[in-house]
Amino acid sequence: MALPVEEWRRYAARRWAALEPVLRERLAAASLHDTLRLGCGLLRPEAAAVLRRLCRRTPAGKEPAAARFYREEGNRLFGRRHYGTAVRLYSQAASHEPPGSPEVSVCFANRSAALFHLRCFEVCLEDIARAESHGYPDRLLPKVLLRKAECLLCLGRLQDAADALSVVENKIAMDGIMTSPTHQTVLKKLSQLKIKIHEKESCPEPAQETCGDIQRKSENWEENDSISGASSSLSLNFDTERGRHLVASQDILPGQSLLKEEAFVSVLCPGESHLLQDSSETVWDTRVTNADLYCHRCLRQLLASVPCRGCSYAKYCSQSCADMAWEQYHRTECSLGALLLTLGVFCHVALRTVLLAGFAEVSRLVKRSHDDDKDLHNPEARCKHLGEAPDTRAGTRSIPGCNDNGQYQSSYQAVFNLLPHAEKHSPEHKFLCMLSVVAICKQLQEAGLEAAVLNQESSEKWSKPKTCEKTWGELSPELKTMAEAMLRHMLQLQCNAQAITVMQESGSGDSAVVNKKPMRLATAFFPVLSLLNHSCCPNISVSFSGTAATVRASQPIPSGQEIFHCYGPHRCRMRVAERQQLLSQYFFKCRCQACLDELESDVKSVVSMRNSFCCPSCRAPVQGEEMLCCSNEACAISVSRESLSRRLRDLQQQIKKALELLRDRKADQAIKMLLKCQMDAGNFLSPGHLLMGEMEDHLAQVYATLGKWQEAARHLERSIEIVEMHHGPSSVEMGHELFKLAQILFNGFAVSEALSTIQRAEEILSVHCGPQSTQIQELQEMKTCLSELPRSILQRT
Ligand SMILES: [Zn+2]
Ligand SMILES: [Zn+2]
Ligand SMILES: [Zn+2]
Ligand SMILES: [Zn+2]
Repeated sequence: MALPVEEWRRYAARRWAALEPVLRERLAAASLHDTLRLGCGLLRPEAAAVLRRLCRRTPAGKEPAAARFYREEGNRLFGRRHYGTAVRLYSQAASHEPPGSPEVSVCFANRSAALFHLRCFEVCLEDIARAESHGYPDRLLPKVLLRKAECLLCLGRLQDAADALSVVENKIAMDGIMTSPTHQTVLKKLSQLKIKIHEKESCPEPAQETCGDIQRKSENWEENDSISGASSSLSLNFDTERGRHLVASQDILPGQSLLKEEAFVSVLCPGESHLLQDSSETVWDTRVTNADLYCHRCLRQLLASVPCRGCSYAKYCSQSCADMAWEQYHRTECSLGALLLTLGVFCHVALRTVLLAGFAEVSRLVKRSHDDDKDLHNPEARCKHLGEAPDTRAGTRSIPGCNDNGQYQSSYQAVFNLLPHAEKHSPEHKFLCMLSVVAICKQLQEAGLEAAVLNQESSEKWSKPKTCEKTWGELSPELKTMAEAMLRHMLQLQCNAQAITVMQESGSGDSAVVNKKPMRLATAFFPVLSLLNHSCCPNISVSFSGTAATVRASQPIPSGQEIFHCYGPHRCRMRVAERQQLLSQYFFKCRCQACLDELESDVKSVVSMRNSFCCPSCRAPVQGEEMLCCSNEACAISVSRESLSRRLRDLQQQIKKALELLRDRKADQAIKMLLKCQMDAGNFLSPGHLLMGEMEDHLAQVYATLGKWQEAARHLERSIEIVEMHHGPSSVEMGHELFKLAQILFNGFAVSEALSTIQRAEEILSVHCGPQSTQIQELQEMKTCLSELPRSILQRT
């Protein structure tokens, strides 16, 4: 998903292999500038044809047939009272309708009805306003206006509700006598609502207390003078071995915020594509993807999305988000949707980065990098760039990416100075990136979007891209500059892409206990966060809110110690060999304490110690590589690792089936199957195996859906033991498990246990995610709720 689709990668590989050896050699050694100069002409018309064909699989434009399909599906599910799904389907329908058409207004009106049933009254009102502004058919208006009055009534805005009703009345009076059955129901509803308003006016409900706004103690935060967004307890250092890195300049406590940074750029990962095969007949997919769930710009969760005026793939949380995205980048990206989906998220991030930076800044920095390249060939200037640590008297001024005042800011200059490692990427990879970037620029030129790219002028004069069949010609010098910067960003992303993750609900989503898992939501550049080096046992946690990242210390960090981020391979999840393998994409060998320990002779990794097999006969630990021998001398059984691995895979399949049963609401069958899996697993997996914990966790989930809270809690407690063994008592994984347990105990009215579990979960999660996170807030709501329970209920427990 980060890289282009496979067919395009294969095409690029074939083209590379077919190049003259001399040209290949020159390309392999070329600077970014020369790569582009040499490579621009290599993108032939045949490549354009390949791309056009691939783009047909990911249609991103507005399709009337899709709109009809989604609207009908929406109506069907609305009829079956699946209002949440109906909202989503109407949103998909709306994204395929032309703006300002009666059809799109019908989508909004229908969606407002579903939102009303979901009791999302404010959003419902917004949709009604949208329906009106997009030209909702006059004859259908009374029904929608009545819904508006009802919403206002539910929100306690009685005067507004009465006003809305008189609008309906006037409208009906003006339209004359009506006899149709719909109008009869409208009239009936009208009189009912009038009575309701009258009743509410005569006995007003007690004013709602404004609770929950407890002033949260503001966190200790003093910003660093020279690193934007960083705490004053950090300092920026540089040496040849570690490059730029951040170090604690004073003792740091667990939970202390170290960095708050807004992404310089972020692109929502689109998720699975809708059409996987080339096929002449279009089958519309009703599965949800990230694009249906999160705002294309700010990554907020969507309820009733605002579609882009030009395409079907960009959906926003609000009109203002849509307008801002349009101004900043989307007017250029809009018509390129299919191409960007085909070429992958890294290409998309690269394009959006240069659009956000603007041509002037891009060209300034590209020119400067050429001057630096010239210096590199001059031995005098050379030591300025490589090798020697910066002159200490100059402070941070000579650290790459810092401005003339020695400040490191989350700016385009900082992004530009992230290392592209151009010389370490394989020449084939560089070639693929180059071809992809050139393809985007050529498409921009063909679509007549060059002016928009270069000037970023406000263009309300947006028009359909010209479809003039211009030749697949040379790029203009300006676009070549943009392409060079994009190529640089693509190469940088391999080491510097930061995933923005969210806790996403997994499973059916309608159970009382929410099972959330971290999910990659977007890919972004965070130039300050990028200063952190990797360790397999990091000392920080990163959490996200929208497009903002917050870094907190996850353990005490003494003054002078380096701050470490984990790029993915964590010592609790993988063995050292797997970790080193994964880290090779970042072009370094990890020398963290965990790696050093494990590489050194006999120290076994946490993972291999816990996640091991046991003897199928006597359940004692087994030893060995390919053949595993029972450590119990009396038993002396040996068995091949391969056969046990096969059993493990079968078991995982069975567990998957059990979860499918749960999704189909066959809880009893799911329990039976999971219990059987557990029995089976006990015969060959060590008791501390992570999978043993996962099965307990699943069982807890099933019992929770049945409202059997005690059983659920019992299973979850066992899962927690195993999670604690693997990840440690104060890990974020532990926090998530305790959060689940708190929900289960809360639902089961086990008050004192719930309170102590809430306390533990709060302590752990506030260190990793901060006191403002949604999970902490939910925990506090539970606590408030429990403390307000009447005595009678408390005594039952
Ligand atoms: Zn938004
Ligand atoms: Zn668009
Ligand atoms: Zn390591
Ligand atoms: Zn044995």
